[in-house]
Amino acid sequence: MSGLGKLRVAVIGAGAAGLCAARNLLARQDIFAPPVIFEITKNIGGTWVYEERVGHYDNGLPIHSSMYRDLRTNIPKEVMSFPDFPFAKHLPSFVHHTEVRKYLEQYCDHFNLWDHIQFGTTVDAVKPVKEQSGWKGLAWDVTTSDGIERSKSIKERFDAVMVCNGHFYDPYIPTIPGLEKFKGMLMHSHDYRNAEPFAGKSVVVLGAGLSGLDIAMELSDVNAKVILSHGQRPLTCPLPTGVEQAPPVVKVLEDGTLEFQDGKQATPDVFLFCTGYNFTFPFLDENVGVKVKDHLVFPLYKFLIPPSYPSLFIVGICRAICPFPHFHVQSKFVISVLDGSFTLPSREEMEKDIELDTAARRARGIATRHILKLDSEQWAYNDHLAQLGGFQPLPRYWSNLYESNKVFRARDMLNYKTHNYTVLDETDWMVQNLQGQQ
Ligand code: FAD
Repeated sequence: MSGLGKLRVAVIGAGAAGLCAARNLLARQDIFAPPVIFEITKNIGGTWVYEERVGHYDNGLPIHSSMYRDLRTNIPKEVMSFPDFPFAKHLPSFVHHTEVRKYLEQYCDHFNLWDHIQFGTTVDAVKPVKEQSGWKGLAWDVTTSDGIERSKSIKERFDAVMVCNGHFYDPYIPTIPGLEKFKGMLMHSHDYRNAEPFAGKSVVVLGAGLSGLDIAMELSDVNAKVILSHGQRPLTCPLPTGVEQAPPVVKVLEDGTLEFQDGKQATPDVFLFCTGYNFTFPFLDENVGVKVKDHLVFPLYKFLIPPSYPSLFIVGICRAICPFPHFHVQSKFVISVLDGSFTLPSREEMEKDIELDTAARRARGIATRHILKLDSEQWAYNDHLAQLGGFQPLPRYWSNLYESNKVFRARDMLNYKTHNYTVLDETDWMVQNLQGQQ
């Protein structure tokens, strides 16, 4: 607790999730001391801070962002925004990544977040401690160091911690027998920046998620010959010129040839993994018991809270979601927990809830690695949190527009970003919301 009896919350990371957490904490200065946001880099925005280099920054820390030069968003700005802060009106629906970074900077300006961010500060350890005056008898020691020298180690005590460290920076490369024998260039989309170096080359892109598809299109524009290898049902929409589909690569032969599941083979110049990322929480004390296995972070009540340590919140780990509004809803839910508007069930009840939820998902045929992929279920999840926390849910057009965009994207991946949406009730709702919540 701060000297004034207010709760002190540490926020790890100044990406979209951390900024949203901070904005919502600052709006409740009746119960929270101003939050402290720790950020390793010198910038806000995380993913949206494009970095031309790959590998490491000058200071030796690994490059965080997986952004590529020509990326335009895959979600229209009308629903990509935080619900209380629209993108600028003059922008098209699908904006270049530089506009998202600007938008996040404007969000910081508007909600006065800058002064609360400690840049160049790495969170090295987050450890629970018993403290009678803490929230439910618990507090957190957060140890940070200077992000450059890894020196100046400082330990501070907080009542709660919101972990917003992102999950698009530690490349996941699936195990493929014989991979070390591949003779061409092996890379992960984390290190992809632009298509020119691949002009005229043959490339096997593994994975047909949003990045895989986007990159395949960029490669096609420079006349690369692309095999899009993936385990989904074959895509039926028109594909760019020079892109053909294949089932997954199952092994690499002695001479470096890739073999696909159907027995066909290829010897591309480049083998490009668009296979996603690992979750990592290297700073989290192992006694907290949060584990990562097969792309699942568990056990977490409502995908947020470890039942044994209910003042720790891991924000933004769900996948296949509309991220910014999702962060907003999760942040408001966290606040409802900490301000007592929502009383958390007992540890045992939360554990039971997780067990039942996981079992229900498995019964619907959802593999462990896809449990965090909420997809269309995100809307029910968001509404559920709003109902528990007693705050305003997202307006219905959010899901309608997001889901419509998904359909257009699946039908016409080549052109869907040329569409501009109009949302009739957008402005009114946002203005009302801003007035009510500043
Ligand atoms: P991040 O943006 O990754 O931010 C995490 C922050 O935490 C970083 O600044 C990092 O430096 C900091 N950090 C990490 N560890 C520590 C530590 N130990 N101590 C201190 N600081 C730490 N979303 C959309 O809505 N629309 C899109 O079109 C879209 N396109 C995308 C395209 C790509 C290529 C990628 C990779 C993602 C895309 N996303 C998109 C998803 C995007 O990642 C989310 O929208 C969102 O930006 C994630 O925010 P975050 O705060 O969770 O994580």
